[in-house]
Amino acid sequence: MLTPADRERYSRHLVLREIGVAGQEKLKAARVLVIGAGGLGSPSALYLAASGVGTIGVIDCDNVDMSNLQRQVIYDTASVGTPKATAARHRLLALNPQIELVAHQVELRADNVLQLFEGYDIVLDGTDRFGTRYLANDACVILRKPLVSAAIHRFEGQAMTYVPERGPCYRCLFPAPPGEGLVPNCAEAGVLGVLPGVMGTIQATEAIKLIVGAGEPLIGRLLLYEALGATFTELKVRRDPECPICSIDPSEIKDSEMGVFPDYEAFCAAAG
Ligand SMILES: [Zn+2]
Repeated sequence: MLTPADRERYSRHLVLREIGVAGQEKLKAARVLVIGAGGLGSPSALYLAASGVGTIGVIDCDNVDMSNLQRQVIYDTASVGTPKATAARHRLLALNPQIELVAHQVELRADNVLQLFEGYDIVLDGTDRFGTRYLANDACVILRKPLVSAAIHRFEGQAMTYVPERGPCYRCLFPAPPGEGLVPNCAEAGVLGVLPGVMGTIQATEAIKLIVGAGEPLIGRLLLYEALGATFTELKVRRDPECPICSIDPSEIKDSEMGVFPDYEAFCAAAG
């Protein structure tokens, strides 16, 4: 039930036919997990909090670095040196004290991922670690939870929404991580500061659409944004009938297989 304070805060949502009181109540009841409070996680978590998502979890085990501030807008200069998960929690609670914020200051691993994801309805992946992407994908397939993924590189971004049984999973698109050294991380390649702002905001939009049941999610559609040319393009993607994860019964996926690839550790880049 919405309180009078909720009705005032979310009044611009309430007048939207696609959201309204029923949609805002769904947002209030929703639980969304944001993996990585970095360039993508900053705008997505801020907009989810502003939008009234009732419970937001943030996973990050890093501290704020001065070089993060060029794009990680959830932090300010005084946050430098403090843990990201707790700094993000304070900022989000200052924005919206009417919601629950959970700071998970842990590293996501095969032995804690299912337990962490279980408490949430939707997962947003904002890391640039390939290992984490596969781990998040596999856990979401097993738990049948939607995963909204985004990635950034220099001036280009991509986003897609994976909903088990409704479309392809991350491994259907990317069956194996690229070879070591082929994809440099943000620190090596550079990234336009505003780019994760665009892509993280798209992730938040997708989560809100899934929660209120409005519009067409990016299921089976890889959205590509190129900032220099100011173009959005879309690639249609099909489910891979041979996918090692989503083509089999989730109960047959062993814990030891989740997120695992040869040279798994070699692909872990620093979080962007
Ligand atoms: Zn798949």
